[in-house]
Amino acid sequence: MELEKIGKFIKEMRKEKKLTQIELAQKLEVSEKTISKWECGNGFPDTTLVLPLCKELGVSANELLCGEKISGNEYKEKAEENIIALNLDIERKTKFLLTLEIVLGLFSTIILVAAVLSAGLALLPVWARIVLIVFGFVCFMFGVHFCLVIEKDAGFYECQHCHNKHVPTLKQTYFAMHFGRTRYMKCPKCKKSSWQKKVVK
Ligand SMILES: [Zn+2]
Repeated sequence: MELEKIGKFIKEMRKEKKLTQIELAQKLEVSEKTISKWECGNGFPDTTLVLPLCKELGVSANELLCGEKISGNEYKEKAEENIIALNLDIERKTKFLLTLEIVLGLFSTIILVAAVLSAGLALLPVWARIVLIVFGFVCFMFGVHFCLVIEKDAGFYECQHCHNKHVPTLKQTYFAMHFGRTRYMKCPKCKKSSWQKKVVK
């Protein structure tokens, strides 16, 4: 996605509709700063805002993603290019998040081990040992929590029975039996339980 080009296009179309940044922001229930961010090419609307924005600007999602008006015969080709680019973008973000999860998991485990070891080995008063151990556990629990939030949101889980891909609830992610990233969960579509693998797309 060429954010700068898209930003200019948003601005151009907004002016064509004779809307100020504030007016457009109010219609979309976002801040004026958000609109200005998009127009400067420093960000792209959330998925939920893409269609409302297109409606206000009188353009198609395809045109918004291209950052230009598209004529009839180019339309399909451009749409396909956009879908591929969007998928690559999502895939890249998912892979980044999954790597971040590993780093976060390792880091919080190291803090826990270091805290417990120092509490056991260093010459410290009892209260300091307790503080260290509590600190280690709190860091570890926070780490695990954020890992699980990433685990839930990045990519999908694939049902082995019907191959439906779904995003589980946080509760499911927390409590399902798991082996690495494979979790034993119930499929929301066919309602059967299976060992579901994490898939990026
Ligand atoms: Zn299923």
